[in-house]
Amino acid sequence: SQQNFAPSEQAQVFLSRDVHHLVIDGQRVPAASGQTLTTVNPSTGEVLARLAAGGRSDVDRAVLAARRAFRGPWSSWTPYERQALLTRIAQVLDERFEELIQIEALDMGAPVSRLRNTKPALLKMVSFFASQAANITGETLMNGIPGNVTTMTLKAPVGVIGGIIPWNGPLNGQFWIVGAVLASGCTAVLKPSEDASLSVLRVAELLHEAGMPAGVINVVTGLGEEAGHALAAHPDVDRIAFTGSTQTGRSIIQASTVNIKKLQLELGGKSADILCSDADLDKAVPGAAMGVFANSGQICFAGTRVLVQRPIVDEFTERLLAFTDTLRIGHSLNAAAALGPVISQAQLDKVLSYIDVGRAEGAELLRGGQRLGGELENGYFVQPSVFGGVTNEMRIAREEIFGPVLSILPFDDVDEAIAIANDSEYGLGGAVWSQSLSTALRVVHGVHTGTMWVNCYGYIDPLVGFGGTKLSGYGSKGSAAHMDTYLYTKSVYMEL
Ligand code: NAD
Repeated sequence: SQQNFAPSEQAQVFLSRDVHHLVIDGQRVPAASGQTLTTVNPSTGEVLARLAAGGRSDVDRAVLAARRAFRGPWSSWTPYERQALLTRIAQVLDERFEELIQIEALDMGAPVSRLRNTKPALLKMVSFFASQAANITGETLMNGIPGNVTTMTLKAPVGVIGGIIPWNGPLNGQFWIVGAVLASGCTAVLKPSEDASLSVLRVAELLHEAGMPAGVINVVTGLGEEAGHALAAHPDVDRIAFTGSTQTGRSIIQASTVNIKKLQLELGGKSADILCSDADLDKAVPGAAMGVFANSGQICFAGTRVLVQRPIVDEFTERLLAFTDTLRIGHSLNAAAALGPVISQAQLDKVLSYIDVGRAEGAELLRGGQRLGGELENGYFVQPSVFGGVTNEMRIAREEIFGPVLSILPFDDVDEAIAIANDSEYGLGGAVWSQSLSTALRVVHGVHTGTMWVNCYGYIDPLVGFGGTKLSGYGSKGSAAHMDTYLYTKSVYMEL
């Protein structure tokens, strides 16, 4: 029960607030309507917190604060000052990390064992954006204009960013937006998911403690169709950075037409993880399993379609099932748990219904498929599940489940594997496991997707970047291209 897994005192101080208010212009303020939403601890099904249910007028207030801050003293901060702010933020995150991950664990269910391991990635991300702050460069260019005309480009911050964040990892995920906003000199209004807003609210307070001016980052919690839609449709929001489902991405594109907002969209996935017969199974078995089961399958680039070359299907399956049986599932604050619950009752129902669909389609359920009972019966726990004999026509191979469900699809030769991988609406992640460099590179070149891993799964480095193609969206996270969402280019012609 929850009593056995109490959070630390610091996390408790934050969690025990009656209502978690909006953060606008550096102040905690209730929603104009006075309405609240409740969020649930997915490990227990118990109410965890009450959030302000922000709506259109709250978004208006927050955008106004962000616009004022954009025009205020923040606009004259030097790159060095913005870099120093990001460096101080990294220190605060380092010091407060344990408190933050306990809040995150209780809010969205990821186990602390997993969240603790994400600290280097978070600090690396903030340090990447600190380096970007001092690397905003234009060009001087040759031109074909007769006479003495000098031409160059300048990069300037676009203004107010709307950041719409999903529930599957908001503590770290928000920094793709926060980091770029602070590095570029933009300001923002963040709309976290109604299922997991707490780490975004807590981080906003810490950003102010680290010296960020009021109004630079504002947070409006609330429902997607209300607060989220109001932000996407707001005429004074310049750009939207969105991570979430493809369906919501479509509605954000539609809303953006009001003022032709440029968008950065990271959407869903159905990534293929290709195991060739010469794969090193000692690495490939845990790699492929955790490529799906990590975060209980709630990762956009999860390698949910595991394509296995026929000669090794039996051995791989046997070893995969043995590995799956070792995964400990438990309350998110239980340090021994490798996997926690899924985010909500709705998500649990969705995952279980896909397991029924897979069975009905004729796939063979080799492991799992059940909600967990006993002391976990009130939480949203589902067993890590494995389907064998899956074909790419089945819905479980085509649609994003966003739960711990792995499908094994046998193939004969590498060209067939590439064709199966590409037979998907999505193009986000993917991997190949082979000891042959030429086979691995053939697959890397052949698969139409934003990221490919070779003999590994899931590395993301901000210096390298990460993004999708097809229905997985557009615009890069990380790499110098990331800043394109936050800066515009001004061409300058000077006749001197
Ligand atoms: P979601 O699309 O339901 O919600 C994402 C955010 O959008 C939430 O804050 C939500 O409140 C808001 N929202 C909902 N409707 C809206 C609307 N009409 N207008 C504006 N905002 C709206 O996604 P989710 O269920 O929170 O997250 C799971 C999905 O996110 C999966 O499809 C997953 O693949 C995707 N995802 C993608 C990446 C990536 O990097 N590509 C990363 C994480 C999650």
